[in-house]
Amino acid sequence: MLLPYPFPGPFDYMVPEGLDPQPGDVVVVPLNRREVIGVVWDIEPEGRVPTHRLKSIVSVLDTPPMLEPLRRFVDWIAGYTLAPPGDVMIMALRVATATAPLRPVLEYTRTAAQPTTKMTPARRKVLEILAEHGSMQGPALQREAAVSAAVLRGMVDVGLLTTTAVTAEPFGKPDPGFGRPALSDSQQDAAASLMNAVSARAFSVTLLDGVTGSGKTEVYLEAIATCLNAGRQALVILPEIALSAQWIDRFQRRFGTAPAVWHSDLSPRIRKITWQAVVDSRAVVVVGARSALFLPFPDLGLIVVDEEHETAFKQQDGVVYNARDMAIVRARLCACPAILVSATPSLETVTNVETGRYHHLRLPNRHGGASLPTVSLIDLREHPPDRGKFLSKPVIETIRETLLRGEQAMLFLNRRGYAPLTLCRACGHRMQCPNCSAWLVEHRTRQQLLCHHCGHTIAIPPECPSCGAKESLTPIGPGIERITEEAASLFPTARRLIMASDTIVGPQAAASAAHAIEAREVDLIIGTQLVAKGWHFPHLTFVGVVDADLGLAGGDLRAAERTVQLLHQVAGRAGRAEAPGSVALQTFVPEHPVMQALLNGDLDAFMASEAEARREGEWPPFGRLAALIVSADTALLADTVARDLGLAAPRGDGIAVLGPAPAPLALLRGRHRRRLLLKVRRDMAVQPILLQWLARIKIPHSARVDVDVDPISFL
Ligand code: ADP
Ligand code: ZN
Repeated sequence: MLLPYPFPGPFDYMVPEGLDPQPGDVVVVPLNRREVIGVVWDIEPEGRVPTHRLKSIVSVLDTPPMLEPLRRFVDWIAGYTLAPPGDVMIMALRVATATAPLRPVLEYTRTAAQPTTKMTPARRKVLEILAEHGSMQGPALQREAAVSAAVLRGMVDVGLLTTTAVTAEPFGKPDPGFGRPALSDSQQDAAASLMNAVSARAFSVTLLDGVTGSGKTEVYLEAIATCLNAGRQALVILPEIALSAQWIDRFQRRFGTAPAVWHSDLSPRIRKITWQAVVDSRAVVVVGARSALFLPFPDLGLIVVDEEHETAFKQQDGVVYNARDMAIVRARLCACPAILVSATPSLETVTNVETGRYHHLRLPNRHGGASLPTVSLIDLREHPPDRGKFLSKPVIETIRETLLRGEQAMLFLNRRGYAPLTLCRACGHRMQCPNCSAWLVEHRTRQQLLCHHCGHTIAIPPECPSCGAKESLTPIGPGIERITEEAASLFPTARRLIMASDTIVGPQAAASAAHAIEAREVDLIIGTQLVAKGWHFPHLTFVGVVDADLGLAGGDLRAAERTVQLLHQVAGRAGRAEAPGSVALQTFVPEHPVMQALLNGDLDAFMASEAEARREGEWPPFGRLAALIVSADTALLADTVARDLGLAAPRGDGIAVLGPAPAPLALLRGRHRRRLLLKVRRDMAVQPILLQWLARIKIPHSARVDVDVDPISFL
């Protein structure tokens, strides 16, 4: 019996007379004088455990069982990430038991019965409305007729109305033949391969790559159509659910109805409806965030991971897992194909293609003859912006011309707020978060200084808290608010839209922003990495990158790869329709390989040299990493535990331990943090080494050691 708590494994319980629980059943069991919910993980033969010491199962819930592939998936993730299996299971179980059973919505229809007895004005009104509308759902009818539910019930009792229960699902039954596009030859070839993979009903992984706008989405929708024709379910996971608005529109045009959507912002009711519809196979296509991997699909026929290179697929809190990698595990356990989609595939995936583990399909051109944007580098040493400003003359000029032509322009800077640092001009004091090793970011519209790590917020002080000087606090460096201010003074008549995770909150807001851009209600878009994602803005022809060097700082092993991916994706927003697009990158290091790769559009060559560099040092994907993050209330305790871990570090051929060292975020939310990094050869597994290592030391209660297998953040 697996319980949804961080125990190391399942517990044994006895099956009482009269109950016949099966593996996967959701049951109630006693635990420490309480009753808790658990899932029957396996049935042990009698006699393995002395039965007189076991407690009995209390009852079996009337909830759909957790099927074998999902249980093995939970086990697999727990084994790989070293998270307690109960913690992983919660992700699959939460919805199943979270809310009370759904009460169906009733739809009311008039009967042929003549209204003889007890006609009241209220009843008459209801009949009039139904005469007009045919039938109506209860809540809407009550509102329109201004009557209570009791009035409707009374009318049913005397035979004036009949009811049918409707589930009111926010998705329909997709029609594979609905909006089938005429594919180009290369698209058709790629689609055919994917459709074969789906028809094979076997595990496989295919990388679908091709420049932005080449029709990758269009192509994998054909694979989904095949999956639907085969009567099986399909799952598409997206890195950022804010992306889903345009994706859902696309889906609707192709299949005539909306897909089921899954993410953490759903209302409990919609969650429950969707979960149930997945169990019953009525939800045949689900598009969702990484948590959708834990849905109880009874017959999954395809998993698509769109924008597979995105680091947002890595969950950093709780169970630390990478949804891209786990999607492949899920596909293997369901014996179905997985498709990884990206214009800028990760080095991990590219390497898997090269070693033959993954198939590879590539779409060569943009659809419909649209050309890729031309890229130019603006050397900021040659074209310095005005003092206190951040846009160079060439960028300003190009925006002006773009706007004059009636086209849209975009400025990209991956930093929220007004300024990343506030400094006292009098004493040099820097405004820092008291809980984190981080500066407070000015958010001028809110008149606040904000920590982007812990959310700590203060009003912008009128004087320096250190020396007391008045009006001496100065913003240093730009965030997008500051770029917006600069753009406003340069282009006062341009209609501006800021797109950042704190201004565009939730899929609804993202949808209306996208619509406003498509409808040309916006001239100039100023955005953070939110704008880099798969958007399709046909009238956008210029993208200016304010600080192309931003992502290169810091010691992250993937800094260069990620910068190329991000900036290439941003650049890909420009010129997606007839009008050609251009991109300007402001940089201090135009000679840097990253800038040269973007300038020449030669990502393959860049990835090849990146691979060479990593192969030499046996860095991922040519070696394996796991991070241990020590955190404690005091620096002393963090140091002690980190030192003990360092002393107990594993040794051996192909094993290296780096650290302990203070984490770049040495203080986070008031906790002191130290890091150690385990690096092993590619043909070794980190898990057994980690388990032995951790077993060698005792961690005091007030300290924690978090394990991050395949880390992608090193903060
Ligand atoms: P990608 O996913 O590679 O960025 P998309 O699938 O979004 O590319 O295609 C880019 C644009 O071109 C979309 O508007 C899409 O509808 C359109 N498109 C691509 N292929 C076709 C096609 N064969 N017929 C019609 N429109 C297409
Ligand atoms: Zn903080």
